[in-house]
Amino acid sequence: MTGMDPLENFTAQFERAADCVDLDRVTRNRLLTPDRLVELRLSVDIPGRTGTVKAYRSQFDDSRGPYKGGIRFHPGVNREEVQALSGWMAVKTAVVDIPFGGAKGGVEIDPSAHTAEVIERLTRAYATAVEPIVGPNRDVLAPDVGTGPREMNWFRHTYETLNRSKAPGVVTGKSPEFGGSAGRNEATGRSVAIAAREALESIDTALEDVTVAVQGFGNVGSHAAGILEEEGATIVGISDSGGAIVNRSGIDVSDAAEAKAREGSVAALEGAERVSNDDLLAMDVGLLIPAALTGAIDESNAPTVTADVIVEGANGPVTSTADRLLANSGALVVPDVLANAGGVTVSYFEWLQNRQGGSWSESRVQKALEERIVEAYETVHRRAKALETGLRTAAFVVAIERLAPAAESGGNWP
Ligand code: NAD
Repeated sequence: MTGMDPLENFTAQFERAADCVDLDRVTRNRLLTPDRLVELRLSVDIPGRTGTVKAYRSQFDDSRGPYKGGIRFHPGVNREEVQALSGWMAVKTAVVDIPFGGAKGGVEIDPSAHTAEVIERLTRAYATAVEPIVGPNRDVLAPDVGTGPREMNWFRHTYETLNRSKAPGVVTGKSPEFGGSAGRNEATGRSVAIAAREALESIDTALEDVTVAVQGFGNVGSHAAGILEEEGATIVGISDSGGAIVNRSGIDVSDAAEAKAREGSVAALEGAERVSNDDLLAMDVGLLIPAALTGAIDESNAPTVTADVIVEGANGPVTSTADRLLANSGALVVPDVLANAGGVTVSYFEWLQNRQGGSWSESRVQKALEERIVEAYETVHRRAKALETGLRTAAFVVAIERLAPAAESGGNWP
């Protein structure tokens, strides 16, 4: 993240909210220190690589329920980043009020550089290493950058084999035929779309009247764009790592998806103008959705952003300095801990289904997700008005007001 690493950024966001509610230092320290941060060495024979692979699991807080958070496979994974991401998960689960804590894991590997066989061995090695500290009632894992249903299935299978017992709820984001939930795949994009609709409503703008630019066309960006289009918004700009395209009269999202599937990038779509990624961020639109990278909007490009509403699809796409610049220019920023919480919310529904031994219909999942995100948005919006802060600080305040009493109620031992 430009100018500030993720852990500094998380701590600054937390402290700003803690100041707003005069939280005492003891509680701050308690809530800012992870319960357990494990560094692991995975011994897996990887062709072309000597030595071992570093891996982590940060269990940040479980006052409100079992730890919950994804596993990231990325060459840049490190201790501080995993710790920060686990803290954001604790805040996120509290903001949407689901009975989970926060956690995150990571393996220092580039999955695209290895065969499925190597990734399977790594996943099983990771599952074996963390097995003593995870479980459906202890710590529930999920996909993150570089992992998906395939890895979650392997994780579940390894855990169950070691325990000689079925435990589908040890991990969410599994494939539907192996205990996954309907609607999980598009859940994050759907919550981004719901949060965008709520934010626009708060400034008396209807989705039908809004133009949208989306940075990143992966799981989050493509589903958010598709759902917003379905609900009447006009998507005028889309980017991915292969380039950015603009069409002021509207881009058909399924055409963009087809171009990406065919040529590897939305930039291959015919009939749209090609622009730079910075041009996309600076587009004159009502709604901008950064759904690609951490730190995508920093102090260098924030002054060029003119969108009225920015909804964070990615984790941490706006740096702290950029956040201040955007607030000063009057933009409404909907933070990641609220907007992209749909993934963890439907993960909770998956965990519930696994516990109940049944499955919900897609329409039931969608309805329950809609209710959770709308309620969370309204709570954060009300708190922001009362405190005269932005939505990010208000979301952290809401989380602190749920986390602090839960942590306090358990008391100390002995
Ligand atoms: P993904 O890998 O499916 O998609 C990422 C997209 O970003 C791709 O289209 C890629 O081409 C694009 N991209 C990469 N570099 C770019 C650049 N320089 N400019 C423009 N586009 C670029 O990932 P995802 O699952 O969609 O996740 C995106 C973000 O959302 C990450 O920050 C992730 O942590 C966060 N997030 C994801 C979920 C989820 O459920 N998938 C949940 C919460 C948060």
